[in-house]
Amino acid sequence: MNCYFDYSAPKDLLKGRVIVVTGAGDGIGRSAALSFAAHGATVVLMGRTTSKLEKVYDDIEQAGHPQPAIIPIHFEGATPHDYEMIAGKLEEEFGRLDGVLFNASILGLRTPISQYDTDIWAQVIQVNLNSQFYMTRALLPLLEKSTDASIVYTSSSVGRKGRAYWGAYAVSKFATEGLMQTLADELENTSSIRVNSINPGATRTSMRAYAYPAENPAEVRTPEEIMPTYLYLMGADSKGTTGQAFDAQPPKI
Ligand code: NAP
Repeated sequence: MNCYFDYSAPKDLLKGRVIVVTGAGDGIGRSAALSFAAHGATVVLMGRTTSKLEKVYDDIEQAGHPQPAIIPIHFEGATPHDYEMIAGKLEEEFGRLDGVLFNASILGLRTPISQYDTDIWAQVIQVNLNSQFYMTRALLPLLEKSTDASIVYTSSSVGRKGRAYWGAYAVSKFATEGLMQTLADELENTSSIRVNSINPGATRTSMRAYAYPAENPAEVRTPEEIMPTYLYLMGADSKGTTGQAFDAQPPKI
């Protein structure tokens, strides 16, 4: 598995780039938004809780990084038309996109498949998978306008090897890897857009605390610690790398 845990990003790695981050209000997405901005990017903060996005916006502004933008969206209810509207707004404002980090997702239930609630199954697949397809489809023309665009999808270890009781979440992550591979293969010879996935690995966020309530958070890496791989994939050093699955943390020995 590819791992760039030790990658050292130049300060101006993302200077002038326009990058969308979903789930930018909390956890790994928040950290990625702050880190991309600190490396020069104009970040478009997408997520469902506007107050959290506003806090990230303020943190970026106070640090003197490029002024970000906010797009509140609830992936559960958003329709393909909503993503087309968003693409139109982004085109008006920026004219192109240089990167998208698909990061937002929900955990759903930790239950055997035989007892999995069908409504929650549909909700998880809608938020974790269908929204990514709708948004990818709507944003591709804008990404094509960049000379060097990068799409990064977020996977999980349960999206690479099935694990009991992880239900719709695991299935949505397998499908995310499938979306990544299929799109990467379609674009490889016709476009400069690169498409890859990252498995963050165990990371100290509310999702992790919810999934592993008995774990000591101090023993889990912080979102800030796993940023090198995210920066590598968003910046020009990864040009030409496509269709690959990355790990943001080295394997446990
Ligand atoms: P998190 O702390 O729960 O953050 C998830 C973000 O997604 C939040 O900002 C949340 O918004 C947003 N979001 C969730 N549902 C949404 C919806 N319906 N519409 C719009 N935004 C929505 O999770 P995390 O741990 O940072 O996880 C980030 C990514 O890494 C996920 O794809 C997760 O599957 C993956 N991952 C995490 C770990 C880990 O150990 N943490 C391990 C493997 C993979 P609110 O702020 O409003 O809640």
